[in-house]
Amino acid sequence: MTLSLRALTKSYAGRLALADVGVELPAAAYTCLMGASGSGKTTLLRIVAGLERQDRGSVLLDGRPLDGLPAERRPVHTLFQDYALFPHLGAADNVAFAPRLLGLRGPELGARVRALLADVGLDMSFETRKPAAMSGGEQQRLALARALAGEPRWLLLDEPLAALDRPLRAGLRRLLRDVTRRRGLGCLHVTHDPEEALALADRLLVFGGGRLLAAGAPAELYAAPPSLAVARLLGEVTPEPGGDGWLRPEHLRVRPIGEGSLEDMSPETFPGKHVREDISNATCHRPDLSRETVGDRPAARGTVRAIACLGDRWEVEVEIAGRVHLSRLPHAPACAPGQAVGAAWDPRCVLRFAAQDA
Ligand code: ADP
Ligand code: MG
Repeated sequence: MTLSLRALTKSYAGRLALADVGVELPAAAYTCLMGASGSGKTTLLRIVAGLERQDRGSVLLDGRPLDGLPAERRPVHTLFQDYALFPHLGAADNVAFAPRLLGLRGPELGARVRALLADVGLDMSFETRKPAAMSGGEQQRLALARALAGEPRWLLLDEPLAALDRPLRAGLRRLLRDVTRRRGLGCLHVTHDPEEALALADRLLVFGGGRLLAAGAPAELYAAPPSLAVARLLGEVTPEPGGDGWLRPEHLRVRPIGEGSLEDMSPETFPGKHVREDISNATCHRPDLSRETVGDRPAARGTVRAIACLGDRWEVEVEIAGRVHLSRLPHAPACAPGQAVGAAWDPRCVLRFAAQDA
């Protein structure tokens, strides 16, 4: 069940919300569409769902155009951020709604509803509970059960976890992945949260200003983004000390140094995965800045400006030759603000973009 978007274009009052978006989405892959607020994500989902009409272009399912079909006849279900549950119905009746329309009755219907609620981690104590008496996480579980109940071929998810607290989000993210994979359901999941997109997606689409900026496997796009805009949408970047490339902060390591040399800034501690294989142009740099080499590795001297604990990692702001760089470490840094540090990085981790992309 491949969903094909062909040259989708949509304007509101002369302003382009979607500009010529074309992409093939195989059902076997969980697709995340990631972009900043206002980049056209909801517009795209609403067009696929049939809730909005495109100006140009086409939506096809397995090669058959859906464009003429009204929303209720499309084999897709949309899960919204605000859940859109029936407020006057209990949990079981919310879930039973679609199976009833499909003709299910009596014990068969009851068994189906119980199985669906169990699939999303809601037991029968929720049976008669109305949405207003459920927490945000429980409501989103119920919304997922209701979505699955109609047996859609595709699930469209518009920022489904955005309203939830961080720990709940992680649990529901895993539930979403497990429940949809088990059913082989096609998923197009829209989010502005890079962590959510990177964690969930088999295939990641990066969106900006109504255009598709990049498509690919999440880890590859994160490690080798095609432009600075895509790099920034997927996480933070920091300038390469003494160079004109960029680094992910976790690829810039800092360590205290005295007056002496940078000799102990060995590259051994760098994460080995997520580095680019191509290092052919990794040695070019601006010679006017403070870069040195340790063996064949670049390094620089700087001063710590600030340190912050982010929970699972630490962030250090380092000033090198008048420019501020970010370093993220998996442990507390052995340095304090004002202290002299050495900074080192693996040249294979340097991101370089054509001038017009930077
Ligand atoms: P996202 O979901 O990525 O935040 P949207 O698809 O909601 O972005 O919006 C894309 C752009 O289209 C925005 O500039 C928004 O203001 C505009 N837009 C969306 N829906 C409408 C509408 N019904 N009328 C006018 N402008 C709209
Ligand atoms: Mg939106």
